[in-house]
Amino acid sequence: MTRRRRIYEGKAKVLFEGPEPGTLVQYFKDDATAFNNQKKGVITGKGVLNNRISEYLMSRLSEIGVPTHFMRRLNMREQLVREVEIIPIEVVVRNVAAGSLSQRFGIPEGTPLPRSIIEYYYKSDELSDPMVSEEHITAFGWAAPQDLDDMVALSLRVNDYLSGLFLGIGLRLVDFKLEFGRLWENEEMRIVLADEISPDNCRLWDVKTNEKLDKDRFRQDLGRVEEAYQEVARRLGILPEGGPTDVKGPKTLQ
Ligand code: UDP
Repeated sequence: MTRRRRIYEGKAKVLFEGPEPGTLVQYFKDDATAFNNQKKGVITGKGVLNNRISEYLMSRLSEIGVPTHFMRRLNMREQLVREVEIIPIEVVVRNVAAGSLSQRFGIPEGTPLPRSIIEYYYKSDELSDPMVSEEHITAFGWAAPQDLDDMVALSLRVNDYLSGLFLGIGLRLVDFKLEFGRLWENEEMRIVLADEISPDNCRLWDVKTNEKLDKDRFRQDLGRVEEAYQEVARRLGILPEGGPTDVKGPKTLQ
C-alpha cells in the first residue's frame, strides 16, 4: 500500500490526499465523540456503515440536483470526494424538538416544531461550536450573504427530500447537521454539500416506537449502538453482505 499524505484528521474521519489534484480520500473511523469531545468511544463497524449510508444519501441528493462533494466510494471505509474549501459553519435543521433545542427552551423531546427551524453553529473545538446568527456569519466573513442564501436553500431541499426518504422506511428525521464547502471550477465558485450524512449527524426515530436509531444511543448510553446504525443501513437496503466486517487495507472497487 502506498502511503498517502494525511491532510486532516477529525473526530470521526481522516482526509488523505486524493489520486488526482482537486480530490481527497475521506476515511471513516469507528471513533465516536460527544459533548464536545468529553465523551469518547468506539462504535465497532460505524465507519463502514457511515461510508455506505453517506454514499447512498449523497448520491440520491445529487440525483435531485443538490450539488455535493461526493464522487464515489472506493472501499469499505473510504470514498473519493472533491476538495472543497469548508465553510466553518454547521447548519442544523430541526423538525422535532430534541437535544440542545429541548434543553435551551425547555421544550419536551419529541414535540413537533410548527415549522422547520434552521440554526447555525461556528465550527470551533476551542469555543465548543457556539451558536451564531446570520449577522455574525456575514460580519465576520465566514460566509457571504449569497453563500448563506445558497446554504439555506440547499438545507431546506435536503430536509424535504430526506424527510420523505426516511419516512418511507419508517424513520422520522428529527434533526440533522450539514456542512458546506466552496468548489472552484474555471474561476466560478459554487456552494456544495460536504462532510457526511449519517446517523452520526442525524437524529432518526422509528415512526411507530420512537426508538432512537442514531448517535444519541452513544451519547445517552442506551446500548445497541452498532445495531442502530445497522438497522438504518438495513432499512435503506444497503447493509453490506455478511455484515459490517472490515477489510485489511484499502482495496479500490472498479
Ligand atoms: N450535530 C452534529 N455535530 C455537532 C452538533 C450537532 O452532527 O457538533 C447534530 C446532532 O447529531 C443532531 C443535530 O445536529 O442531529 C442537532 O444537535 P443538537 O444541537 O441538539 O446538539 P446535541 O444534542 O447533539 O449536543
